[in-house]
Amino acid sequence: MLPFLYRSLATVTLVFCVALPACADSYLSRLLNKPVPGGVAVVDLGPAAQAPKATWQGKPVLVVKDQDARWLAIVGIPLSIKPGSPQQVSSSGRNLPFVVGNKKYPEQRITLKNQRQVNPNPDDLKRIEQELDVQVRAYRTFSPVTPSNLLLDKPVDGPLSSKFGVRRFFNGEERNPHAGLDFAVPAGTPIKSPAAGKVILIGNYFFNGNTVFVDHGQGFISMFCHMSKIDVKVGDAVPRGGVVGRVGSTGRATGPHMHWNVSLNDARVDPAIFINAFQP
Ligand SMILES: [Zn+2]
Repeated sequence: MLPFLYRSLATVTLVFCVALPACADSYLSRLLNKPVPGGVAVVDLGPAAQAPKATWQGKPVLVVKDQDARWLAIVGIPLSIKPGSPQQVSSSGRNLPFVVGNKKYPEQRITLKNQRQVNPNPDDLKRIEQELDVQVRAYRTFSPVTPSNLLLDKPVDGPLSSKFGVRRFFNGEERNPHAGLDFAVPAGTPIKSPAAGKVILIGNYFFNGNTVFVDHGQGFISMFCHMSKIDVKVGDAVPRGGVVGRVGSTGRATGPHMHWNVSLNDARVDPAIFINAFQP
């Protein structure tokens, strides 16, 4: 039975690699390669003496060294992408294809007492637009630092509450899907940085409340929000495990919880991938 199983697995791997020449078969790839909307594509850039640069859709992407001196592009795929559309990473004059599969995300209905958080007034809308602008600029940061770790630590110890990608209806009206992962933990719980990084933005925002952005390097960025207290300032270097603030319920939140976004090349992706909790 066993030799047959091994042969089958070898055939399957071979078929996939022939069909997708850019696929990588390594520890990192097996853990992180979830090429679906809101997921991650790990693309093999091959061996090179120095780190090659790579772009996708005109934006620089994270490149890390894998085993055997090969380099991998770790590409964030936005929720808005059309499944099945052919994609390619550009690197050193080559175009390396990958395919985005499908993923169905569940729906959630949320009741908010504050109707202004569902249909903000014109002044709120002006504020929301400005806040969105500074946050998107933070997500587009691309610093030449290699992340300390790609497999991230959980920022808090606690059960997951709302998953990434959930389509949300507030008081019956559909709004943006859930761009992060929620943990059910009490107010005041310290939030620890899941990798080393630098604080690039803090603020108090209409939807996100008290918010901290930590740049882990090369467009790999964590955002924590709804905090009761912020313990860092812009420019601070944060070690892996360093406390950035405390859990709260500021902004559009129905109660205390920790909301965590992970972004790669300005695409919000499922943080569960990086803590080995991804469910297809
Ligand atoms: Zn959330």
